[in-house]
Amino acid sequence: MKLRRLFIGTLVRLGLVGVLIWPALAVAAPAYDLVILHGRVMDPETGRDQIANLGIRKGRIAVISTRPLAGAQTIEAKGLVVAPGFIDLHSHAQYAFGYDQQARDGVTTALELEAGVYPVAPFYAVRAGHTRINYGASVGLQSIRVKLKTGIEDPPTATAPVNHWADILPRKAEWAESALSPDEMTKEQALFRQGIADGGLGLGVLYEYLPGLGRDELYALMKVAAPLKAPLFVHARAAAAADPSHLLDPIQELVADAAATGAAVHVCHIGSKGLGSVGELLDLMDGARARGVDITTEVYPYDAGSTAIGSALFNPGWQAHIGGSFGDIEWPPTGERLTEQSFAQHRADTPGAMVILHTIPDPSVTLAVAHPGVMIASDAVPYVDGKGHPRGTGTFARVLGVYVRQKHALTLMEALGKMTVLPAKRLEAIAPAMRRKGRVQVGADADLAVFDPATVADRATYRHPTEPSQGIAYVLVGGIAVVDHGALQSKVFPGKGVRGGS
Ligand SMILES: [Zn+2]
Repeated sequence: MKLRRLFIGTLVRLGLVGVLIWPALAVAAPAYDLVILHGRVMDPETGRDQIANLGIRKGRIAVISTRPLAGAQTIEAKGLVVAPGFIDLHSHAQYAFGYDQQARDGVTTALELEAGVYPVAPFYAVRAGHTRINYGASVGLQSIRVKLKTGIEDPPTATAPVNHWADILPRKAEWAESALSPDEMTKEQALFRQGIADGGLGLGVLYEYLPGLGRDELYALMKVAAPLKAPLFVHARAAAAADPSHLLDPIQELVADAAATGAAVHVCHIGSKGLGSVGELLDLMDGARARGVDITTEVYPYDAGSTAIGSALFNPGWQAHIGGSFGDIEWPPTGERLTEQSFAQHRADTPGAMVILHTIPDPSVTLAVAHPGVMIASDAVPYVDGKGHPRGTGTFARVLGVYVRQKHALTLMEALGKMTVLPAKRLEAIAPAMRRKGRVQVGADADLAVFDPATVADRATYRHPTEPSQGIAYVLVGGIAVVDHGALQSKVFPGKGVRGGS
């Protein structure tokens, strides 16, 4: 007795009694802000695949249990999969409509990493409190080159696309076409360092759009990037010729530089870069990774690409580089295929207009989507008058509907891994906060996609590219529903910036 009194007395002195009895009292009131009941919880990192209840408190997953749970709000998820929200490493659609289209596709974090931005700080500042999903960007090499050569900076607008493609991808611009002097290269590296200090998530390299970018320039940037743990997100340079073996060249350069410098490299959209050689390129990268080179890649699940008609991608000789012809180019406003004449006309009149390029072999897309380690990323581009590529609207549901359910090209768990924990891990070295994303685990951020595996599907097409995906019932960002019963919630803005160093 004496001992017990002493023990209790000690607890009171230490102020611990309240802590010990608090859990018992808490049962009476809802313990959680939100509970998701009876869903099929799927966590690709641990392999957990279990009917369970989930309790969310203060924006994080507080419990996953087969016991009954009570919350201030309840989502009934019987028959639905409860998965981590999808993380898109490649979204140029960094504006309100772009975020909303992606939210309805299950995306909770959309990042502009391939093109990037500069300066970085205003990109984050203008979005704070104004987005439905999480956002972030790398430091944009092309924006740095524009600043170096012209003094012009990216406009920090939250409602329009951050990259004005008409301005950012012109042909015959000095900042794109010309080499940098040694002095300019030193300044470029300083601006890159500044962008990382301001929260940039790596370096975005639109190599093919910057014909003046030297191999020495990129190699020097990788030496700067490696100790900063800043990955490079690279749209590889143009291949040398139509000969399929030449498609290896641009990726071999990246493998070599990554091996020599220790920099992490992420190769963007392997489908449109690899074309008929996707298998060889994946083999090349797998081999490099097995030998310690930090190189990864991604794919969007479509057999057509999209870019600005005035861009350097269409400089003379483009047919050989991308294995296409004028008739493979679709003009979105009308759906017509172009001819040499109409191509020249549009390229002169509206160089920033986006076209759709039907050049990627379908078997290459399936191969990449199913290949272990290849991430799913949309390459979403802003819509102009509701026209554009459907990938900004339907990428993730399309993988789940077409490649998992219809084609059986990969399992549902494998597909989810490619959309969640793999992209999270890609960023963890530079952004440790990503360790809390891409998982359905206790302590993780409550960014979740809740969908019906029997009906989830993309509906966006080349003709109707903004038709939202179906079968995605709930999308939560930090525990707040931005999609509820399949409907976008227009008054909530729980999105937060994902920054390097955070
Ligand atoms: Zn690209």
